[in-house]
Amino acid sequence: MAESRDLTRLERIGAHSHIQGLGLDSALEPRAVSEGMVGQVKARKAAGVIVEMIRQNCRPGNPLSGQPGTGKTAIAMGFDSSVLFIDEVHMLDFECFSFLNRALENDMSPILVVATNRGVTTIRGTNQRSAHVIPIDLLDRLLIITSQPYTEDEIRKILEIRCQEEDVDMNEEARQLLTLIGRDTSLRYAIHLINAAALASMKRKGKVVETEDIERVYRLFLDTKRSMQYLVENQSQYMF
Ligand code: ATP
Repeated sequence: MAESRDLTRLERIGAHSHIQGLGLDSALEPRAVSEGMVGQVKARKAAGVIVEMIRQNCRPGNPLSGQPGTGKTAIAMGFDSSVLFIDEVHMLDFECFSFLNRALENDMSPILVVATNRGVTTIRGTNQRSAHVIPIDLLDRLLIITSQPYTEDEIRKILEIRCQEEDVDMNEEARQLLTLIGRDTSLRYAIHLINAAALASMKRKGKVVETEDIERVYRLFLDTKRSMQYLVENQSQYMF
């Protein structure tokens, strides 16, 4: 029983557990903040059109493309139908893509949504370069949605939603600091700091997360830029 409660909690605070849908109104227009979704209005509007096409029994395939952490997976989670979602599609090799290409021709095939954060680069198993690392003939069968980087205000709202999701009380200064960290490092890194900062606050018997907790975990855990910088500076001490 205790184990199943723990599992439920783990499930509840998964990376996308705050996403309840695409946050669209009845006319499929994106609300600014709704169903856990913040901003990314153009991509969500396009995703809404895909949902409507699916409802009308069209079978569009669609790739989500955009910089890391800009909500591609979150948008895919927002689709409420039986969609086959392949994240990090650039990991597939040429044979997998050929299979998908054939499979999409079949009436029985599921609706395919793929996501990638890669630009123009080489497809695995070939010398062929292609946009989004998807072969051009497959790409041509898909409707492409692009996600955009977030504004500071959108980052702040997403972090607020994650604090609620993780039952973490954070004061205004700490939220502001975390927002700046999210802006200057990555949204995902800032999201990870929420729980770590809550533990730091608990350890010092604090009632809410304060800036000192955020600063503490920021020093403890490196974001990718600082980690990379450390490696570059200490390269000689690592094995090649
Ligand atoms: P990558 O290219 O690195 O795979 P991604 O574009 O798929 O990244 P996500 O994993 O969707 O990015 O987003 C990172 C985190 O931010 C997730 O926890 C996600 O739920 C949250 N998030 C991203 N965009 C939004 C948004 N528009 N509204 C609410 N939460 C979001």
